[in-house]
Amino acid sequence: MKEVGSALKEQRNNRFDLTGKTAIVTGAGRGLGQAIAVGFAEAGANVVLVTNRSSAATTLAKIEALGGQARIVQADVADREKLPAIIEETVSAFGGVDILVNNAGIIRRTPAADHAYADWQEVLDVNLNSVFVLCQLAGKRMLEQGSGKIINIASMLSFQGGINVPGYTASKHAVAGLTKALANEWAPKGVQVNAIAPGYMATDNTEALRNDPARSRQILERIPAGRWGTDEDLIGPAIFLASSSSEYMNGHILCVDGGWMNR
Ligand code: NAP
Repeated sequence: MKEVGSALKEQRNNRFDLTGKTAIVTGAGRGLGQAIAVGFAEAGANVVLVTNRSSAATTLAKIEALGGQARIVQADVADREKLPAIIEETVSAFGGVDILVNNAGIIRRTPAADHAYADWQEVLDVNLNSVFVLCQLAGKRMLEQGSGKIINIASMLSFQGGINVPGYTASKHAVAGLTKALANEWAPKGVQVNAIAPGYMATDNTEALRNDPARSRQILERIPAGRWGTDEDLIGPAIFLASSSSEYMNGHILCVDGGWMNR
């Protein structure tokens, strides 16, 4: 009986095990990307930490403290020419790519009538165009090997319009659509493309909202869980979508939102 019990325990743990897998996480120097990267390392993956202006040294130190392996790759994902090097450096460091998390993202808040075209363009370059190109670059390798997991970070504004963030909303609706489009083509070839739509999480991205007492109150009143999300809240869902536990999930947009979308 004891042996059966421990075999079962091992099997359960293995469903979320990422040992031997290599993951790329963009925007891994801070915020949600840092938490996902460290969570992946905890689950056993080697992690490539893509960062632009942040150093990612803290993320690397956290992973090394766990006995994990990571490499920092500096790249502005808005610069399309820089993206192939991310995949090349990953393959040269760890021998392949099994998981890609497109997490890097920016938001520009100004009313639509005054929204500068430069802001619109920058948001689309970072939040959408880089996602397409990185999916394509990593996806080609994954299709060749017949397996792979891509997780795009969407938003509540993949479903709703928001206020004062037209470029961000357009980009996140498009990320959801792209996730479904790629999933339809790649699911039969063993490559799963899904997305996580975080609710309102306490990171730099939402600092302006949290500092506005009226907006902060309105938002909190609508969240059934009664609190802002934290970076920790995304770790389990990201490991789930990166692991063998989610083999039959394709083109799904997983809301991690304290119940926001139900209201
Ligand atoms: P954050 O704390 O503001 O961090 C943004 C991340 O994106 C940073 O790691 C940043 O890297 C990276 N990044 C921005 N521009 C980049 C560029 N040009 N090239 C490479 N990396 C770039 O935001 P967060 O809350 O963690 O957001 C992470 C993702 O979740 C974003 O896609 C965001 O839209 C999405 N999201 C967040 C929330 C929320 O409530 N926080 C809700 C829904 C969706 P550097 O520091 O190196 O510039």
